[in-house]
Amino acid sequence: MKKKQIRELFKNLGIAFLLFLIIAGIFSLYSSPFEKPQEISLSALVSQINEGKVKEIEIINEEELTIKLKDGIEEKSFKEKGTGLGDSLKNYGVDPEKLALVDVRVKSVSGREFLTGMAFSILPVLLILGLLWFMLSQAQKANIQAMGFGRSLARMIKPEEQKGKKKTTFKDVAGVKEAKEELQEVVEFLKNPKKFTSLGARIPKGVLLVGPPGTGKTLLARAVANEAGVPFFHMSGSEFVEMFVGVGASRTRDLFRTAKKNAPSIIFLDELDAIGRHRGAGLGGGHDEREQTLNQILVEMDGFEPDVGVIVLAATNRPDVLDSALLRPGRFDRRVILDLPDIEGREKILEIHAAGKPLAKDVSFREVAERTPGFSGADLSNLVNEATILAARRNKKNIGKEEIFASIEKVLLGPERKSHILSKHEKKITAYHEAGHALVAASLPHTDPVHKVSIIARGRAAGYTLKLPKEDKRLRTKSEFLDELSVLFGGYVAEKLVFKELTTGATNDLEQASFLARKLVTEYGMSEKIGPISYVERPDMVFLGRDLIEKHRYSEEIARKIDQEVARFIGNACKKAKKILVKKRKKLDEIAARLIEKETIERKEFEELMKE
Ligand code: ADP
Ligand code: MG
Ligand code: ZN
Repeated sequence: MKKKQIRELFKNLGIAFLLFLIIAGIFSLYSSPFEKPQEISLSALVSQINEGKVKEIEIINEEELTIKLKDGIEEKSFKEKGTGLGDSLKNYGVDPEKLALVDVRVKSVSGREFLTGMAFSILPVLLILGLLWFMLSQAQKANIQAMGFGRSLARMIKPEEQKGKKKTTFKDVAGVKEAKEELQEVVEFLKNPKKFTSLGARIPKGVLLVGPPGTGKTLLARAVANEAGVPFFHMSGSEFVEMFVGVGASRTRDLFRTAKKNAPSIIFLDELDAIGRHRGAGLGGGHDEREQTLNQILVEMDGFEPDVGVIVLAATNRPDVLDSALLRPGRFDRRVILDLPDIEGREKILEIHAAGKPLAKDVSFREVAERTPGFSGADLSNLVNEATILAARRNKKNIGKEEIFASIEKVLLGPERKSHILSKHEKKITAYHEAGHALVAASLPHTDPVHKVSIIARGRAAGYTLKLPKEDKRLRTKSEFLDELSVLFGGYVAEKLVFKELTTGATNDLEQASFLARKLVTEYGMSEKIGPISYVERPDMVFLGRDLIEKHRYSEEIARKIDQEVARFIGNACKKAKKILVKKRKKLDEIAARLIEKETIERKEFEELMKE
């Protein structure tokens, strides 16, 4: 900031100077006309004096005379050096009385003439110099910019700059208890490294935060920096590789150098997977930009002693694709896992984000947490914000239950598209499709309760059936998956049954069903015929076209068997759905009719409808 101001000042001064030179030049042009004063002899001067025409004589350097006549004309003359003006004129017969009336001044050098003279001779030189200087400084600026590409773009956040601002602390992070405890240790080390090193403890150089998107990795890293009160260098993986080949490595070098200078400090490499992927996985040979950057990070991390007081935090949601060299001890040897929050966690996260917002009395965070399994911290933060916006749009003084529940669906399914108007026939098809999903779901034992059925378009779907689990689940069973498959086919089967015709409305359902069925067979070992063997492609293998080079790791024969099993699972699911819908055809008609009439059926109404 300061440097910039000074540079600005110099630039302004330079411009002012140039302007001055130009003005001086113009001024001197006008003030000394090229029509020089007429040169006259001394005798002519004497006669003019005697006639009383002369007003003023200026003697310059004892020999040059500038004569001003009373009518304003200027003349010039010369006398010998050494003799006074009076003596010189006397020789030509001047009238002493008349001479006494003339104003005589003596000057050694004329100031103005000297200046104009100087200006004339120096001005062009100065102008050229000024221009040169201007061009040079411009060029240098461009140069500095070009050189700057190799410098790190890390945003340094110093603890003193944070004063007065709202700091992120551990209090702002909820639902990730273990991760917080682990990082508490890092904070303690940064605050008081001697306590650890004096006992001979080896301090971790790198801590890797691993977790799905939106679980608070970036948030937590910030909190660590604030809690420890040390400078924090934040850099995102993609920034290393930006724009120019070859700068990734030099940016890395610069980042580590700066961090060491400011030790104790934290380097935070966000989205490490953008650079830290397996080397040599690319199609176009190994020596790409990312690889060099990664190598440089490895070199830097090996290059400093643990007691320097620099800790490298990194975050990723794809630990599986990271190069194994990064995970070796001595680098990111600590891993902190952040999971999606459980119900307690969600409740606390909601409390944090709703703090300071006006909430209606009927809002219970517990209830909201119950309804939001699978939501990440970012989803919950988004949910509270959406509810606030909705309340404001409805001109309410506080945020009520309805706004929050409406926002849950919005976050889950995307915004409602009420303007998406269906024709009467389309509405009927959609109603039967959704009624099919809902009816199958309600008829099978291992499914989640139906919360809402609707034929209002949301996101890309024409309608939706919202099911929410009763509680958080860590383990899923085969029966659940099979029932889920049947529910997915509920819409497809209902359309076929009622209209004897199929639409594109089931596309997404089919895609999901096929994906799930394949997982059952190749990942979960839930097919009797294939048995407990995993045929999952490791994610890094699929990365960057590696699968184009490598064939499947299993034989054609196994591939055929897998396909057969997937088809069998899907066929069975279809059959089961059809059986239910044929048997309960009357119920299906009822639900569809209600949907056409009201467009949305809530859980309570749906359950009553099912009981009748
Ligand atoms: P990540 O880096 O893991 O993808 P972020 O840290 O960027 O996720 O989280 C995005 C936002 O979500 C945060 O700014 C915060 O508002 C909210 N958030 C995420 N996790 C939590 C949490 N555990 N506690 C409180 N807020 C959270
Ligand atoms: Mg992040
Ligand atoms: Zn569907």
